[in-house]
Amino acid sequence: MKKAVFIDKDGTLITNVPYNADPDKIVLEYGAVEALRLLQEEGYSLIVVSNQAGIAHGYFKEDEMEPVSARVRELLHEADISLDGFYYCPHHPAGKIVQYAVSCGCRKPLPGMILQAAAELNVYLPGSWMIGDILNDVEAGNRAGCKSILLNNGNETVWEMNTLNKPVYIAENLPEAARHILNHSTENLKHGAYISNVD
Ligand SMILES: [Mg+2]
Ligand SMILES: [Zn+2]
Repeated sequence: MKKAVFIDKDGTLITNVPYNADPDKIVLEYGAVEALRLLQEEGYSLIVVSNQAGIAHGYFKEDEMEPVSARVRELLHEADISLDGFYYCPHHPAGKIVQYAVSCGCRKPLPGMILQAAAELNVYLPGSWMIGDILNDVEAGNRAGCKSILLNNGNETVWEMNTLNKPVYIAENLPEAARHILNHSTENLKHGAYISNVD
């Protein structure tokens, strides 16, 4: 099984532009290349998990997500970083596009995207991490059984912490989050149950 780092997209991996689906407006966040390279070199699969309620709200169409993911992959590829997965939730219970206006299990803070990715990509969740810029990301990671890091970059505005959404670490930026993961990478190696870097 693999170990993975699940990464929120908007405000974490790329600069947050609310409800953006224009590939030309995608810019990697500060330190993204440095952080993801460190994690990739350490053997972590890199998997984006993103709420895209703009689809349910009718701000853009689901088929516009493919150029978005392609652009993110392209920007990372220029730095020799490859994503192992790109998952998004198109739903929102109050959406106006009927087919997406559902209470799903994939919208963070629920862990559905992470669980699906783990099943499809053979990820060992207790050896894996979630990084996000709001506590709903943290909660999704925790619910999936990962350890979760909050980026304290000003995007969380509510700060209602509880037992479900408590991060194990709060980082100021992505490289700091990556270094924390590398420094705590072996904590889940128990009883030989987990072999890293084996596909
Ligand atoms: Mg975000
Ligand atoms: Zn969903």
